[in-house]
Amino acid sequence: RPGSSALPIVQLDEHLIDQIAAGEVVERPASVVKELVENAIDAGASRIEIATAGGGKTLLRITDDGCGIPEDELRLAVRRHCTSKLAGGLDEIATLGFRGEALPSIGSVAKLSLRSRAEGAAGAFEIAVDQGRCDGPRPTPLSRGTVVEVRDLFHAVPARLKFLKSDRAESSAITDVVRRLALAEPEVRFEISGPDRTPTVFEAARDMTERIAQVVGQELRDNAVAIEAEREEIRLTGLAGLPTFSRGNSLQQFLFVNGRPVRDRLLVSALRGGYADVMAKDRHPVAVLFLTLDPALVDVNVHPAKADVRFRDPGLVRGLIVGALRQAFGEAGLRSSSEGTA
Ligand code: ADP
Ligand code: MG
Repeated sequence: RPGSSALPIVQLDEHLIDQIAAGEVVERPASVVKELVENAIDAGASRIEIATAGGGKTLLRITDDGCGIPEDELRLAVRRHCTSKLAGGLDEIATLGFRGEALPSIGSVAKLSLRSRAEGAAGAFEIAVDQGRCDGPRPTPLSRGTVVEVRDLFHAVPARLKFLKSDRAESSAITDVVRRLALAEPEVRFEISGPDRTPTVFEAARDMTERIAQVVGQELRDNAVAIEAEREEIRLTGLAGLPTFSRGNSLQQFLFVNGRPVRDRLLVSALRGGYADVMAKDRHPVAVLFLTLDPALVDVNVHPAKADVRFRDPGLVRGLIVGALRQAFGEAGLRSSSEGTA
């Protein structure tokens, strides 16, 4: 085309690259909470506190009692592609994080500060990032763990700010993210608090049943069938709500692959398929389902936010879920419409 000037190809500067990556990882305050709480879980924390203000837009503070970050690694922690979690390669991911992108991404679109004391270290240190510029580390008082503070999310990207919903809606998205992670880690105590909300606390639970009661509600336990099935070393466990215990939306569906909360399309559709004969089309089941399989049979590196996964054998996974649900409902004496006339 005439007039389209042939500008030279240049290497983008680091800050711009981080902002581009941030577009994929950091969509809203809840995605920041997801990344930071995942980091706390990966650090082995047993208590995780999430403080928010302004629906997480003005302030997010995640405090954990995990292993901490040594002084000489703090600068690396906020640099792109720097991670302590990929030593085993992409086929052996045992942590929730592995991309080394969250902290630099957040630091490029918000004011970020990290205070941390590594296990066994003599003191704690703080590092701050604003507009991609890094300040520190400098000594700070902190007895253990890590405190990550994110202020004025998207202040540097006004276009993004406009897409955020009301404080209330952003707050409830934060609660939803924390509920999912809390189900994945029953023995960890979670607390969400702030001037903009009523506090939510999930005390450390003895087992998954107790955590499900805390997060989803006691009623599910009394209105569900237990799911336990296995096919070719792929295991499915959890609770599936009775067809009569349905909802108008899918917010009460909690799906996990190897302990990672996912919103995978295949799994959602398989869940639907399992209820197809016993639930009206416009209703949504309540369910908490955990799929456990060899990490080599599932790719979690499909999307930066890791909500979607790819299975080596999707048909097998679908068959396992649909079959297990139908069998459980059959054993519970629920007639499916296909059996109804027999
Ligand atoms: P990733 O989690 O993919 O490795 P992040 O950007 O989220 O990438 O974090 C970079 C690194 O910083 C992590 O690999 C970890 O070593 C360290 N880190 C981040 N948050 C914490 C935390 N809360 N406690 C201990 N270490 C942390
Ligand atoms: Mg991370």
